[in-house]
Parts: sequence; C-alpha cells; structure tokens
Amino acid sequence: MNAPQQYQLVETRLQEKLANGTTRCNLCLWRCKIGHGQRGFCQAHVNRDGTLYNLSYGILSSIDIDAIEDKPVRHYRPGSRVMSVGSYGCSFRCGGCHNLEISWGVSALDDLARGESRKAWVTPQSLVDSAVRAGVQGIAFTYSEPAVWLEYVIDTSILAHAAGLYTLYVSNSFVTDEALELMAPHIDVLCSDIKSLSDAFYREICRPAKVSQVLHAIEKAQDLGMHVETRTNIIPGKNDDPEEHYRIACWVRDHLGADSPWHITRFFPAYKLSDVPATPESMLFRARDEALRAGLKNVYVYNDKGCDCAAENRPVEFYLGSNSEELHAVKKCAASCCGDEGILLRKYED
Ligand code: SF4
Ligand code: SF4
Repeated sequence: MNAPQQYQLVETRLQEKLANGTTRCNLCLWRCKIGHGQRGFCQAHVNRDGTLYNLSYGILSSIDIDAIEDKPVRHYRPGSRVMSVGSYGCSFRCGGCHNLEISWGVSALDDLARGESRKAWVTPQSLVDSAVRAGVQGIAFTYSEPAVWLEYVIDTSILAHAAGLYTLYVSNSFVTDEALELMAPHIDVLCSDIKSLSDAFYREICRPAKVSQVLHAIEKAQDLGMHVETRTNIIPGKNDDPEEHYRIACWVRDHLGADSPWHITRFFPAYKLSDVPATPESMLFRARDEALRAGLKNVYVYNDKGCDCAAENRPVEFYLGSNSEELHAVKKCAASCCGDEGILLRKYED
C-alpha cells in the first residue's frame, strides 16, 4: 500500500475501462458509466482522461468517539469504544437523511473538484495513530456510505488491523459483490440498514435500490466472514406496518440466523420528511413483538435516537492532534495534470 502523503486523486479500485475513454465504477450498485469530465452519482469519483479517480481519499467530514453499542452493534466486543469517521458522498438520497451536508456532501465535493476545498485531509496512518492515542479499540466508517470511499476505508483498515484495532462499516448495503469481496479481509463488522422490504419504499425514499439487492449484499457479507448486525429505522406512514416488521425479522432469522441482532430505531423528522412525526414508542415496541413472534432472539429497541448523526460531533482537529493549518490547507490535487483549474466539474446527475 502506497498511501499518498498529500492530497491527490487516487485511482478508483474497482473500475472498468470501456470504449472511448468511458469508465464504469463497480464500487456500488449504481455501476455508474462515467465519461471524461464526469463524476459519478455520489460525486466522489471523477473520470480524467479515461481513468477513474476518487476525489475524497483522506478527506474527513466528521470524527467522534463513542461506544460500539451506539453504532448500533451489540454482539461484537461489547463495552469497547470506537473512533467513528466519515467523508462526503453517498449512493442514496434518502428523504429523511439527517446528515445531508456530509452524506451527500455536494458542495464539499464541488469544492474539491475545483481545487478550493479546506476540508480536513488525514493520511490513513495519522488516523490510526489518533485512534491508538485516544485509547479506542476500533475504527468505524460511518455517517455517509463508506462504499463510495472504499480506497481510503481499505487502506486505513489494513493499518488499523496491524495496530490491533478492529474495523466496523456502517452501510446501506447498496454495494457490489466485488466491493464486498475486496473489503471482507479488512472489515470485521458490518452494521447494515434494512430500510424496508418494499421496492416502492426504496424508490420513493432512497433512490435506485431494490430490496433483493440490499438483502443479497447483507447475506454475502456474512458469508464472507464479517460479523453482521442489521437495523431498521421505522418511519411513520412509510415502513410502519407490523406485518412488514414480521417479514424483516423472518428474513433475518432465515438468512442470518435466529441469534442475529436486529436493531429497531426511531425516526426523527428531517429534510423531505420534515412533516412526518417522530416514531411513537408503541410502534417501536410493536415491531419488537413481531420480531420475537418470528423467533428472533436478540432484538433491540432505541427510543431515544433516530440516526447515526454527525451533526453534534467535535471538530475533526480535536482528535487528530495535527496542525490545523496543514489539516485545512487548500486541497488541490498534487498531480500536475489537474492544473490550476482543479479537477473537472460535470456531474452525472446533470
Ligand atoms: S455512485 Fe459513486 S461509488 Fe457508486 S458506482 Fe457511481 S461513482 Fe461508483
Ligand atoms: S440516510 Fe444514510 S444512506 Fe440515506 S442518504 Fe443519508 S447517509 Fe446516505
């Protein structure tokens, strides 16, 4: 592994070169086909002259330290503490996302593309050193979707393992088999959403996923040896049918095992779902009853906290112990081909 020592574009790990300089990214199930000068749906990968690069390698949006139970993960190293980090960019556009500025991170990624970003940049080794210094036992990749930042996630995880830390990945599981195979040797724990068992829910709330794709990825992660726990955030009027909760629990029982933990979390109004009320407690406990009826043995209800939100985290420099001028210096790609005008701006969505 040759991690860069200053900000620069890093080649996307899972890319296919197609005709006429077009590339396909195979990190997540969008499998974006990206022409020269375009960025993928997540905005974090850009095609320059027929090669695809990750824009956000080493760029941190958030960092915090908390208990592994807050991820939520209950059956892996209980009582241990993790350093949670995230970057910018996500493969979904969830109507109820609490982390829009960092999860979609469109303006942060635009600034990076223009070579005008002052976001924190941290090498994998400095991040691992900070985690060791902070006395945590693991590093969690969360807040946005780690699949769109996989180059950094894997490089950091390799160093984390070498330092005796475990690694945890919080995901929407809209990821390819290839990405799961690439990360499996380096990621110990997957905490994945099962947002619903309805394709219509995913289409309306999250964008392109099909339920079968998400469930396939979760099961595959377990088959590849990761410790897997799942979570459903119950949104009133959207995925609150007890029968659906029973069916989710049956899926967990049949595909991950009756012992596999299922976490039921509470929705709080946000963004396009600001008019939807917070989940009533009775709805959360009714879902737990359905899961117990299905035979799940480890069901956890969170009636206090709706999401893994980074909004209240400390500033990144708090934990990094780095010179903040260096950390936030203007991010221009160090490769000379990017020139003064930064990287490239056309967006996939346009
Ligand atoms: S959304 Fe991003 S990570 Fe997913 S395939 Fe497209 S460019 Fe790759
Ligand atoms: S809720 Fe999660 S999956 Fe959805 S947009 Fe936000 S970070 Fe992405």
